[in-house]
Amino acid sequence: MTKHDQLHRFLFESHSVRGELVSVSETYQRMLENHNFPQPVQQLLGELLVATSLLTATLKFNGDITVQIQGDGPVKLAVINGNNQQQMRGTARIDGGVDAAAGLRDMIGNGYMVITVTPDEGERYQGVVALEGETLSECLDAYFKQSEQLPTRLFIRTGMQDGKMAAGGMLLQILPGAQEGSDNMFDHLVQLTATIKGEELFTLDVKEILRRLYHEENVTLYEPQCVEFRCSCSRQRCADTLVTIPDADIQEILQQDGKIDMECEFCGVHYIFDENAINEIKASK
Ligand SMILES: [Zn+2]
Repeated sequence: MTKHDQLHRFLFESHSVRGELVSVSETYQRMLENHNFPQPVQQLLGELLVATSLLTATLKFNGDITVQIQGDGPVKLAVINGNNQQQMRGTARIDGGVDAAAGLRDMIGNGYMVITVTPDEGERYQGVVALEGETLSECLDAYFKQSEQLPTRLFIRTGMQDGKMAAGGMLLQILPGAQEGSDNMFDHLVQLTATIKGEELFTLDVKEILRRLYHEENVTLYEPQCVEFRCSCSRQRCADTLVTIPDADIQEILQQDGKIDMECEFCGVHYIFDENAINEIKASK
């Protein structure tokens, strides 16, 4: 049986290493329902979803993270956005055919990965890394090596479980101020964690997974957090965008279609504005 989506944080107290474990299969399925993506794109979005969930869980403040991959291949953009409440959404833009056996580079071509961290209060910051690896995990490893952040490793698994798409993953990170020599212990824990199988992540209880992976270690497990698909779009946000469009352009669309139809590319919801609605929005500004 598939588990409900949860994120778990844990700590190896004697080694100054923290960990996370997440299962996101339900969120993943909800996200894909709104679209009709080819299988390799679905898999890529699953990997990005796991990565974004794990990364947002490292935030020490309220805010959100967007992980996007873009390039000159048939998949122009694959993006996941998630916040520290573990509300996740995602989509892809495709222009051209995607082979059933396509890998990351076949889909994206020459491109890069952009990670944008947006605190609710304060400056946003962005990290960019060229897509040189063959997998998303390799690109993330390159990102963490290049950025001056704490040593961090992600382990991402996607696949099928009980006939449904499934995704999950783990993260290990050295704590700030860790003692010298902790690198060796980190490498050891990385090797243990790398043995995690998708099926274990998708089906087993977190305690059972931690026992299997680290049976000689003392692990402190914290209260879990729920992960869910939720889009932050709204009629108000669309209205805010509408007022930035030049009047002449709006009039042209109204004359042609009688209304303005804004579709959210994440969740597929349509927000419809007719002339009256647009006049009201403008009057209220
Ligand atoms: Zn939406």
